[in-house]
Amino acid sequence: MRLRIGYFYPEQLNLYGDNGNVEILVYRAKKRGIDVEVENVGLQTSLGKKFDLVLMGGGPDSSQKEVYEDLIKVKGVYLKDYINSGGFGLYICGAYQLLGNYYKSADGSVLEGLGAFDLYTEHFGNKKPRCIGNVVCELSDEFRHKEVFNSVNKIGSTLVGFENHGGRTYLGEKMLPLGKIITGHGNNSGDGYEGVLYKNSIGTYLHGPVLSRNPHLADYLVAASLGLDRLESLDDSLILSAHIASKKLRQ
Ligand code: GLN
Repeated sequence: MRLRIGYFYPEQLNLYGDNGNVEILVYRAKKRGIDVEVENVGLQTSLGKKFDLVLMGGGPDSSQKEVYEDLIKVKGVYLKDYINSGGFGLYICGAYQLLGNYYKSADGSVLEGLGAFDLYTEHFGNKKPRCIGNVVCELSDEFRHKEVFNSVNKIGSTLVGFENHGGRTYLGEKMLPLGKIITGHGNNSGDGYEGVLYKNSIGTYLHGPVLSRNPHLADYLVAASLGLDRLESLDDSLILSAHIASKKLRQ
C-alpha cells in the first residue's frame, strides 16, 4: 500500500514547524508498513499526479503574497476540484485563509481567495492584537463521531497546538468548525470556534507542527485517506504525556 502526499509550497508556507507534519505522517505510515511518496509542489511545479493527501502550511503575509498568483491562477482549479471531490487535506493558518473567499492582509490589501471554503479573513492591522499563544480545542461532534477517527483515537477529544496570526476568520453559515476553543483565540478570538471542516478537508490555525502532539489526527489522516478503517497501534505514551501537559499550559 502507498500513501501519496502532495506538499504545497514547502519553501514559502512553513511556519512553526509546519513541514514537520509531513515527516510525522511519513513516520507513522511507515511504522505500519505503508510506503509513502511525498511530492513537493512548488511555484514552478506543474500538477498531474494524483494525491491521497494534500498538505499546505502557514506563512507571513509576504509569503502568502509570494504564492498567491500561482495558487489562484495555476494550482487553483486542481485544488478546488480536489477539495470539492472529497480529497483529504490539512491546511494550516495562512493556507487555510487563502482557501477562503478573501484575505484582507495587514496592509489592507485584499487577496481574493480560492473560494474552496466559504469563509473570510480580515487582519485588523494594529487595531486588534495578534492571536498568539498555546491553544487547546475540543473537537467538534462531527469530527469526533467519524468512525475511522474513533478507531485510531487513543488520545481523546482535544487538539493542542500553537497559534500566531493577525488575520481573524469568520465561517460561512453552513461551514462546520473543527472544534471549540478551550484555551487560546482560534478563528477570531470571538465566536469560540477553531478551524473548519469541509468535506474531507481540515483547516486549522494550529501550528507546532499540529500533528506532533496530536497523533490521533495524524492517524486519522493516514487511515482515512487510504480508505482504511483501522491502523496497528503505536506506543504513543510519550506523546500522550506531552498532549496532557500541553492542556495545562496557559495561553
Ligand atoms: N499571515 C497570516 C496572518 O497573520 C497567517 C499567519 C500564519 O500562517 N501563521 O494571519
